[in-house]
Order: sequence, then structure tokens, then C-alpha cells
Amino acid sequence: MTESRNDTLFARAQKTTPGGVNSPVRAFRSVGGTPRFITRAEGPYFWDADGKRYIDYIGSWGPAIVGHAHPDVVKAVQEAATRGLSFGAPTEAEIDMAEEICRLVPSIEQVRLVSSGTEATMSALRLARGATGRDKIVKFEGCYHGHADSLLVKAGSGLLTFGNPTSAGVPEDFVKHTLVLDYNNIAQIEEAFANMGSEIACVIVEPVAGNMNLIKATPEFLQALRRLCTEHGAVLIFDEVMCGFRVGLKGAQELYGIQADLTALGKVIGGGLPVAAFGGRADLMAKMAPLGAVYQAGTLSGNPVAVAAGMTTLKLIQEPDFYDKLAASAKRLATGLTAAAKEAGVTFCADSEGGMFGLYFSETPPNNYAEMMAGDRAKFNTFFHAMLEEGVYFAPAAFEAGFVSIQHDDAVIDATIAAARKVFATLG
Ligand SMILES: *Cc1c(COP(=O)(O)O)cnc(C)c1O
Repeated sequence: MTESRNDTLFARAQKTTPGGVNSPVRAFRSVGGTPRFITRAEGPYFWDADGKRYIDYIGSWGPAIVGHAHPDVVKAVQEAATRGLSFGAPTEAEIDMAEEICRLVPSIEQVRLVSSGTEATMSALRLARGATGRDKIVKFEGCYHGHADSLLVKAGSGLLTFGNPTSAGVPEDFVKHTLVLDYNNIAQIEEAFANMGSEIACVIVEPVAGNMNLIKATPEFLQALRRLCTEHGAVLIFDEVMCGFRVGLKGAQELYGIQADLTALGKVIGGGLPVAAFGGRADLMAKMAPLGAVYQAGTLSGNPVAVAAGMTTLKLIQEPDFYDKLAASAKRLATGLTAAAKEAGVTFCADSEGGMFGLYFSETPPNNYAEMMAGDRAKFNTFFHAMLEEGVYFAPAAFEAGFVSIQHDDAVIDATIAAARKVFATLG
């Protein structure tokens, strides 16, 4: 067998880059094996360094919602690039984008553009602390909000004890202000507010969680967060970096009918280039520099080329029936995979919300981190590699959600299900 060019590239990459990758999950550590080095992508597909084609169910972890290399997006980027790459001064396109975001997400009255989801949540957190004059924050186990110090925290030894860092290099002093509770557990958050409500600056939550596989919040849970934050003067932050413009045009807030005080956005709004944003109530946003005392800045914030990709993507997702089609594709995939597994006698289920989906090697979809961790990870890993062999690229870890684009038509979904039927037959 000739050696795969992916192996050669991986060996080379590891000499100059830690683990050979620029973001850890790409290294295939969870599933084992060699990461595929991608050379190009188009529509629902990408190709690796050996020229092998895959149906891509990551879509760059969400941004590729209109399909890879959509001609309109590529054209907008090319045109913007010819006018100059970055000015470090304001542009009209940034106003257009801010207006569009405020129009689409009703709880956002003012918005600031940044370059990554990490920056968006980190800045929203600082604003919540600055606005309330409080230090403590609440997050939920299994939700990912980027890699800022205060957010790389897992639950402590007991309820209402403060968290432990999930990364070396995060000072205990930082995480002692972060309380980590169970997702979808109303009693716990009620107890937290009863004990220390006057000290809590904010609650940050993924209203549809996509970083511990796909886990949906119950409406009651999000309603409880809204009520408790209002009662105690804390800021409710929806981290919609992943689920925004993904579970529906107006995000999880519309789906659940709940308004956040601040919202973090990213992924889809950059259409594949680095645009993210945070925004919300005008009285809160007025506390940002240069108007207020909460500092935040960025050399490439609102970058003209990135904004061109983002604005074009935001236009394309507003075409008639876009989200109905997207949701139907994700649902067709989830239903088809579940049926195929059942035929083969494999313990498996799948679920979807808009253009996001989850695959679970368990009887029922999980409701929180502990339930997600109880799934059969070894089975997932075997499934993952067998599907890869079949030319289907799912996220390389059992903890990640999957994504369809509008280019994943019925034929693409059905080809995936046919491949899965073959693979499940070997797993039963
Ligand atoms: C991806 C993600 C982030 C971090 O965004 P980056 O652009 O990778 O920094 C934050 N929150 C959620 C919910 C995400 O999915």
C-alpha cells in the first residue's frame, strides 16, 4: 500500500506545530489515527491530500451553512479584497452588518464586531462584570465558551464550590469566581442564586449546546435562568456562537422565546472568515469603551474582507424556506441513521435542531454532560473511522455536534445513510 500523503503531512506538521494542528480537536486524538489534510472544498464536500472526497458534516464547525466556497461569498470576498485588506478605520460595511444583526436578533440593540467567538464571550463577560460591579459568574458543565481563562473551568468537588481549571496555566485565583453547575438542572441554579445571588455578575449558557455533542436546553431551564437573572440583577448571556443563525434565522432566542441581556455570535456570521460579535441591551453596551469604562479593542475587528463574507452569508440564509430545508436535511439524516442502526441492532440514536445534529451511542439523547459521557465512545470511534473510509467526515470526537449545509441535499443525505447501513452492520 502506498503511504498516504496525509501521514507525510502530519509527520511534517508535528515538527513545527504542537501536535501538528492549530486547534486541538483537529488532531484526531479522541478517535485516533491520522488527521486528513484538506486541499479544497465545494458545496457539501471536501477533498484531502490523497484526493479522496468526503461528505463534510463539520462545515468548519458551523460557518459553512451555505455550503463550501459558495460563488456569491467567494465573489464578495474577491471584490472586497481588491479594495484593500484592512484599514484600522471604520467602514460603511460594518454599519450594514451591525444593522443586520440588530434587525435579526431582537434582543440585540447594539453590537460590537470582533474576530473570534472567544473574544466575543470574553468581552461579554467583562462587560457583565463591569456593569454589575460583581465578580462571580455561572457556567454549565460541558458548555464551551472559547478559551478565556475564567471559562476554562470544570465543576468543583461539590455543589456550590467553585470550579477547577481545565487547562494548565489558568490561575486558581481566576476560576474561584466561576461556579460550574449541571446543564438543565433548575434546582441547582435556584440554590446558587438563593445562596449568593447578590454576588453573581452573569450566567453564561449555550441555549442549544453543541460542544458536548448536541444537547437541547429544556424551555423550563432557560426560563428559570431568565427569571433568576432578572430577580437578582445578574446579566443573562446567551452564547450563540454556534447555535446562532444555525438552529433558526433568529437563533435559540427565537426558538425558545427568551431574550438574553447579552448575546455572543460567531461562526455563521463570518461565513468562513473571522467575524464574531457580542451585543445586547443598549444600556449595557453603552458601558463599552469609548463611551464607557469597559475596555475592548481589536486591530482586525470588523475587517472589510471578513465582513463581506459574513454579510453575503447573512443574505443567503434569508432566502425563502432556507431554514425549513436545512432542518429537513438534518432531520432526514438523524432519522435515517437511527433507522439504519435499529436494523443492525446497534444501540444508537440521533437528534437535530435546525441545521445542527447529534449522534449518540446510547438509547436516548443525553440531557447533560454526565449523560453524554456515559455514551459508548469506543463504538463511536469505530463508527467514525469506518464512515471516514466510506467517504463521510463526521466530527472526530464523540463530544461534538454535527452540521449540515443547504447543499446537503436528499441525495447526499441518502448516500450517507447507505454508507452508515453498511457500517452499522459490522457493529451490531
Ligand atoms: C466555537 C465556540 C466558541 C469559540 O469561538 P472561536 O471562534 O473558536 O473562538 C465559543 N462558544 C461556542 C458556543 C462555540 O461553539
